[in-house]
Amino acid sequence: MSNQQKNIAIFGSTGSIGTQTLQVIKGNGNLFRAFLLTAHSNADLLISQAIEFEPEYVIICDQSKYLQVKEALAHLPVNVLAGHQAIIDTVTHPDIAVVLTAMVGFAGLEPTIAAIKAGKDIALANKETLVVAGEIVTALAKQYGVKILPVDSEHSAIFQCLAGESANPIEKLIITASGGPFRGRGLDFLANVSREDALKHPNWVMGAKITIDSASLMNKGLEVIEAKWLFDIEADQIEVIVHPQSIIHSMVQFKDGSIKAQMGLPDMKLPIQYALTYPSRVQNDFKRFSFTDYPNLTFEKPDLDTFRNLNLAYMALKQGGNMPCIINAANEIAVAGFLNNSIGFLAMSNLIEECMQHITYIAQPTLTDYLNTDKETRIFAQNFIQKLPLKAIHY
Ligand code: NDP
Ligand code: MG
Repeated sequence: MSNQQKNIAIFGSTGSIGTQTLQVIKGNGNLFRAFLLTAHSNADLLISQAIEFEPEYVIICDQSKYLQVKEALAHLPVNVLAGHQAIIDTVTHPDIAVVLTAMVGFAGLEPTIAAIKAGKDIALANKETLVVAGEIVTALAKQYGVKILPVDSEHSAIFQCLAGESANPIEKLIITASGGPFRGRGLDFLANVSREDALKHPNWVMGAKITIDSASLMNKGLEVIEAKWLFDIEADQIEVIVHPQSIIHSMVQFKDGSIKAQMGLPDMKLPIQYALTYPSRVQNDFKRFSFTDYPNLTFEKPDLDTFRNLNLAYMALKQGGNMPCIINAANEIAVAGFLNNSIGFLAMSNLIEECMQHITYIAQPTLTDYLNTDKETRIFAQNFIQKLPLKAIHY
């Protein structure tokens, strides 16, 4: 390893963001080294990544896969560990410079907090961490003097628009949304969509959970909450606009009315690379955008009556406290239920709303409160799904 190389830990290296992060590292071998890779249960891919990148550590969360990984890598100088706690323990390693959080869902919260407390800069893809506990996570980042560098394309765009503007007041953030595969459709249509329909995103290839979130506009709701914490801005200063081509990745409107936009082809490798090279920009061979290929960039209002999740997320953000944590947990159970055909597409919003009404509200939650809220909500949501009358399943 050369002294110039930054050691990167990737939480969730086997996922969509994780594998693209490894491509970025490969394209910038002089700048970065993959130091720690983690997977939930995809042992085969973790093994092949370890063989290619020879990281210092690999961690497989699913303990039953430990021996398989250990034996496959026995001939290499790679430390193999298993279980969630191993991530929390290993991320403190003094040689790690940046942690790219690309695991999906609430599972990212505790390892990210451990990384912040160990003084590591965070390249944050795992938006659920900020949705659940944005106040605590951003306060800890300040306390430990670490940067939270957005990877989510919209937030990376805003972050790029804000470069050099620290003294200038923001009027509003304008977050773009593709609208997903069901843009323009009504409730009658959505009542009957299948998981296969919902998994076909028009512009991005992503993991299953975020793809469903994009189809239901919950992803945009989570991103509004994420933006509040990343940019310290109020809910009513965050506007969502549907832009089906996904070329403008988001915008900032300043107090003088001027709007800055960040543009490019939809390719997560760019925001990943920017988070890792920030504040520098480095050369790459990613495909370039051409205006003449996109003569029509269009914009429309989101349909909040049909895609209720976006409204629910705004409501949760305005209520504050543990409400965003409640909608996150409810949504994780709803998406899992939709993906295994236990509930229909529209029932996801009903389930989230039920949880918002029934789970104990806490105005100023501690981390323990968040962990308990997450558990309580999951149990409530699972019971709710089991009790749903058959006809409600496809409502
Ligand atoms: P994927 O489902 O493709 O990958 C998830 C990764 O997390 C995999 O490595 C998976 O391991 C691991 N993982 C899953 N569950 C757990 C768990 N309980 N504990 C530990 N590790 C786990 O997701 P994406 O890459 O699409 O998304 C990752 C995060 O990035 C999400 O928070 C998403 O919202 C965010 N994001 C993604 C974008 C994208 O374009 N994909 C864009 C912007 C943000 P295994 O493979 O073994 O299951
Ligand atoms: Mg996004």
